[in-house]
Amino acid sequence: QASSILVTGGAGFIGSHSCKALKMAGYLPVVFDNLSTGHAEAVRFGPFVKGDIRDQDAVAAAISKHKITAILHFAASAYVGESVQHPNAYYDNNVGGMISLLKAASATGIKRIVFSSSCATYGVPETLPIIETTPQRPINPYGRTKLIGEQMLEDLAHVTDLTFACLRYFNAAGADPEGELGEQHDPETHLVPLALMAASGRREVLSIFGDDYPTPDGTCIRDYIHVADLARAHVLALQHLMQGKPSIKLNLGSGRGHSILEIVRAIEAKTGRKLPIRIEPRRAGDPPSLTADPSRAAEVLGFRAELSSLDQIIEDAAPWFGLKCNVAA
Ligand code: UDP
Repeated sequence: QASSILVTGGAGFIGSHSCKALKMAGYLPVVFDNLSTGHAEAVRFGPFVKGDIRDQDAVAAAISKHKITAILHFAASAYVGESVQHPNAYYDNNVGGMISLLKAASATGIKRIVFSSSCATYGVPETLPIIETTPQRPINPYGRTKLIGEQMLEDLAHVTDLTFACLRYFNAAGADPEGELGEQHDPETHLVPLALMAASGRREVLSIFGDDYPTPDGTCIRDYIHVADLARAHVLALQHLMQGKPSIKLNLGSGRGHSILEIVRAIEAKTGRKLPIRIEPRRAGDPPSLTADPSRAAEVLGFRAELSSLDQIIEDAAPWFGLKCNVAA
């Protein structure tokens, strides 16, 4: 019988892709999600429990009912800008949710937790690429809630037999290579889907937030990792913990940086469409450049991003925006 894994936030972008990866690896993903930002139709690989992570009894009931052996915890609010505007809501959902989840896990004897952390915990790093020991100094409430989540796990693991994996994502992008799952945020704020919408005509123009950064072309550089690579890393982290190995904190990135203009050009080349752009002022809180040193995840989990070339990310995401790639003119 397949081992059942509780996936909070399993109806969301990274969560749903991770459910597919779990299923393919022989686990049964049990999604626990309040559908505040997730989508019921993305729950396709196991049972669905509609509930809020801040409801400790509901989480504990789902764990008991489905004979859960470990938790993948994705459920959280995840817009940096919104977190600056509504810090209470972010601390409530992300930190309050974590408190309730950990209490439910303790009460039901769960000893393995994989936690969605973020490169936002590093703030504006003094050196690049970012290694796991780079100081974590978040510059917005979102990043602070994720750092607090990491610290809560650490404190709890110190006095119990809990082991955990904190996975610090860089920029997740792309979509299921088999076309079963995609990215649907509302409102959409992420660069790659917004750029694809501008290329397809679903939006008039892509706003580029700043072209005067200290980077080669003046636009911000990020490390984009394919969501299917991220999903696979979660399975590897889970297996690591299930084998009784120690807690881990790992960067998940491709190790390569791409500027916004590089992405614009790659989308134009792939789709043969002109992507209208408009240069706008910088967005508050954007570091010029963020790239991961991915070598620790390779050493500890044997994980390497395999699908995270810009071309592959664009090819897999494009159909969700009505775009075809590599079509002869
Ligand atoms: N960005 C942009 N235009 C947009 C959305 C994003 O120029 O419409 C920029 C943003 O300022 C950042 C990069 O693209 O430099 C990646 O932003 P995103 O929100 O996708 O991810 P983040 O790095 O903030 O997590």
